[in-house]
Amino acid sequence: MNKEIPYKCSCGGELKKSKVEVEFFGINFGLRDAEVCTLCGSEYLDQDTMKEIEAEVKKKNIFGLERKVSVTKSGNSLVIRIPPEIAEFLGIHYKSIVQLFPVDKDKLEVKIVS
Ligand SMILES: [Zn+2]
Repeated sequence: MNKEIPYKCSCGGELKKSKVEVEFFGINFGLRDAEVCTLCGSEYLDQDTMKEIEAEVKKKNIFGLERKVSVTKSGNSLVIRIPPEIAEFLGIHYKSIVQLFPVDKDKLEVKIVS
């Protein structure tokens, strides 16, 4: 039985209830209830799950690692400095390989490859 969800995804797609594997900041929260867009695949977690994730993340003091840094320049590339405490937390070091994912117009995700 599919429950109708009264609102739509920002892309205009329909949302369907589903279970998704949730992982934030490298912490695995297992399979959770979410609404998944049938068009673009965006996942919307329910409020309880979001609260639980937030609490868990705060407990681990990960939010405390947030930093504002300014962008500098090297040749034609822009350079974002990673503060030492974040580098240590992520296990990232000089000459690490990272993958950059622009996830939104104002958001860049960095995945440590090696
Ligand atoms: Zn969508």
